[in-house]
Amino acid sequence: MINYTSFIEISRKALKNNIHFINSQMNEGVTLSAVVKADAYGHGISCFVPIAEEAGVRHFSVFSADEAMKVLGVARSNPTIMIMGMIENSELNWAIQNDIEFFVFEETRVKEALKAAKELGKPAKVHLEVETGLNRTGFTKKELSNIIDDLKHPLIEVKGFCTHLGGAESIANHYRIQKQKKKYSQLYKWLVVKGVTPEKRHMACSAALIRYPETQFDMVRVGILQYGFWPNTETFIHYSAKNKTPDSPLERVISWKTKVMSVKKVKTGEFISYGTSFLADRDMVIAAVPVGYSHGYARSLSNTGRMLIHGVRTAVVGLVNMNMMLIDVTDIPNVKKGDEVVLIGTQGEHEVSVASFGEMSNQLNYELLTRLPYEIPRRVVD
Ligand SMILES: *Cc1c(COP(=O)(O)O)cnc(C)c1O
Repeated sequence: MINYTSFIEISRKALKNNIHFINSQMNEGVTLSAVVKADAYGHGISCFVPIAEEAGVRHFSVFSADEAMKVLGVARSNPTIMIMGMIENSELNWAIQNDIEFFVFEETRVKEALKAAKELGKPAKVHLEVETGLNRTGFTKKELSNIIDDLKHPLIEVKGFCTHLGGAESIANHYRIQKQKKKYSQLYKWLVVKGVTPEKRHMACSAALIRYPETQFDMVRVGILQYGFWPNTETFIHYSAKNKTPDSPLERVISWKTKVMSVKKVKTGEFISYGTSFLADRDMVIAAVPVGYSHGYARSLSNTGRMLIHGVRTAVVGLVNMNMMLIDVTDIPNVKKGDEVVLIGTQGEHEVSVASFGEMSNQLNYELLTRLPYEIPRRVVD
């Protein structure tokens, strides 16, 4: 059997705990759409979706048609799948045929969707994304007014009316968020007067779920919380103050593990790995680990990354190479080839969290997780 050089474990228990927590923060009657774009934030759609379904999730959000296809392929409960971003005209037929819902934010997409729906004799299920201040994608009022008739066509089902907030995780954006909320409500009222009544209103992401519960409307699109991370520390502090608890209710779902590939002794005064970034200032013992920047371990963690071996925290020495890196095991007795190394996760009493290493490498949790290559095998553990 051929093994990959590292593997990722997905904790069923942690994921269920997080979904339970998210549900507890939702107002009565609100639907949870589990955001699983970017291969479920690096966790793997094929592991993630069936567990989320076990926890009662029946609505999934993805970025693009290829991701929707992945969810469709592994889902067991016939959930609703919603594409929030990219879909080609040539993919519209497939989406409509498979009851995949999708955001529309351009007149041409609505026209193309209607064309495809007519060809198939089956309605297109669309969510109207409106511009409220993120200035990314979304209809302005004027653009919407041009397509009112199309939206009333029986082959267009207006499943949703939505927008995305520009930074609900930070109080610095408070004024902008208030403006977005107001704009959204005005546009909604205007549309209803025009005779179009969308089925569900939705705008909240993880941060808004917690900080602006009034934005939950009929559905929330939650990503990062499901995976056990706060959008940022500020959001956790907000939650913690409001609920008078110092403890986070979230549990990390992902662990990333590998094994020692080789161990060697290095004499004082020698440089370790490429170049001169690490000089051994004593006789050292170094272990080579078969994970490098091509596997998603950021090169910026050179000389700073932390990992666990024999239940002890140790550090990366020298530059992270393409396929491997070196760790200092001088003070950890009897390290040998094959010993488990934890890159993210717990071993014994210690933990390496994504957050701690995210901060060190100045990367957000989001970025670090989603850079984990698709090829690293994911397995579900209880
Ligand atoms: C990614 C995304 C979300 C989820 O964001 P989180 O901060 O991970 O909860 C919600 N809505 C849209 C449109 C997104 O792109």
